[in-house]
Amino acid sequence: MVAGQLEMALSADPTPPPTPGAVVRHHYDLFNSDADVQQAVTDLLTRVKDGQLHVLLDEADFSSSDVSGQRLSTLVARLAESVPDLHLWAAGVFHIDIPPSLRPEPLTVPLRCAPSVLREVQTAVGRLTGSIHNYSDSGVPGPGDGLRVIRLSHHDNAHRGRWPVECQQCGKEVAAELRRLGVGSGGSSLPNSPTPLSYRDVFIITRSSELQDDIEDDAGQVTSRASGVVRGLRDEGLPVCVLGNQDRRHSRARWERDVHDVAVAATDRVTVTRYSYVHGLERRVVVMLPGRHKENDEGLSDELIDLGDRLFAASRCTTQLIMVDVPPVTTATSTAT
Ligand SMILES: [Zn+2]
Repeated sequence: MVAGQLEMALSADPTPPPTPGAVVRHHYDLFNSDADVQQAVTDLLTRVKDGQLHVLLDEADFSSSDVSGQRLSTLVARLAESVPDLHLWAAGVFHIDIPPSLRPEPLTVPLRCAPSVLREVQTAVGRLTGSIHNYSDSGVPGPGDGLRVIRLSHHDNAHRGRWPVECQQCGKEVAAELRRLGVGSGGSSLPNSPTPLSYRDVFIITRSSELQDDIEDDAGQVTSRASGVVRGLRDEGLPVCVLGNQDRRHSRARWERDVHDVAVAATDRVTVTRYSYVHGLERRVVVMLPGRHKENDEGLSDELIDLGDRLFAASRCTTQLIMVDVPPVTTATSTAT
């Protein structure tokens, strides 16, 4: 999103580097390259002025359990060693992971979510006070106060599968709720938020690794159908963009194009995606679909899954949150007597 906005600013008013204030875009791959860490340090050090450097890190993950988190920590530690007056602003941080070379000053004022949404996020934050600072009480007024969170349920005869991602009926019911809110109609039924709601104002977010669009072979034949929830949304006529695991593997070019489109909301479509793909982004309406990552979530409790959903899906929402409840698995037990 930042890259897209900078590109727009550049095309509107091109300022050639090295003029002060000119935008210069670099691309570093912290997921895969140690060399890029050093290159980023070298490039940033050329911007130091009077001993000062100002850096913004969006959705900074310093976690040592993750290789990109380790690289980001290394990058920041090297900057801190070399720049006497380093000012670094980082969003989305677990404070327990902050590199020791930094002197943290937490900003805990809620900036994004309406109070009703914030309460749902805080349910998770309150359980993680050892690694996340709780929000402070005095927040900036949210964009639309006190909207009731809408709760749907993946539970009755028409619903299929363990999780809503698999369920066509959930897709239809989410679509009906979005229509009721005025999405795509040129209007909005959100109190205090009369600007018309477009399809691009909606994220449908899940943790599930099972989310996918139709997968086609080279001849254009569908070899594997889209997830149930995607089919249900399309049955109701909603324009849908899916960012899922399989889509990334099967068509890299389409994936890159869709990521860019979603980041800058270029195309008027509802986005259905995993929450790891929309870090740093927000939408007025967010639908939270509980689900699991097939390989990584073995043995995780439903409570822990719910905690992640609130931190990484609900927190994307500025105004209207829609949650889909899933009934807990009931295990039949018998006792020999
Ligand atoms: Zn369902």
